[in-house]
Amino acid sequence: MKPQNTSSTNSGSRIQRNSPPSKKFWTIAHACGHEVERDLSDRPADRRAGFAEWLANQECTDCWKATRVDREEVKAAWLAAKRAEEQAAAGTWSAQYRMPPLEGSERGIAWGERCRHQLVSAAYTALVLEGDMDDDAWQQIEDAARTITRAGWWIDNRASEPDDLPELLAAATSGDRPCENPFV
Ligand SMILES: [Zn+2]
Repeated sequence: MKPQNTSSTNSGSRIQRNSPPSKKFWTIAHACGHEVERDLSDRPADRRAGFAEWLANQECTDCWKATRVDREEVKAAWLAAKRAEEQAAAGTWSAQYRMPPLEGSERGIAWGERCRHQLVSAAYTALVLEGDMDDDAWQQIEDAARTITRAGWWIDNRASEPDDLPELLAAATSGDRPCENPFV
């Protein structure tokens, strides 16, 4: 913090404009190194010094905005990379287990594929690896999963408990199986 009325050697013209105790304009030396003149007249006179001190410990507004944009860009890039990774894993998995293409909007198809991968994989872990379901029984679950090609069904059920999958598949309607499935 560098209140203007104390730096009399180099800002003489400001002293007269802002004489204590009602000084309104303060030069804040921010933590980022920038000096910014602030009008503190919207604060009660006896609070300005404390506020100016608090301000001096912050980045200036421009720097704060810039780092916020940086953080948002980093976060967006991270999310996009994570999504692309999941999409690739879902694509590999769908091919490996002969899961048919889904139907829906372009975005819905991509999202539905990720949801299907996650839900069916989690169900396999819960029911077969950690449960007592045998392979034949699981094959039936997989076959039923292959018939559901409406992307929206997988998106709607993405937050389901993995071991509820057999029940959810049994409850699916013909609308969730829009076409003859060549893979079953
Ligand atoms: Zn700055």
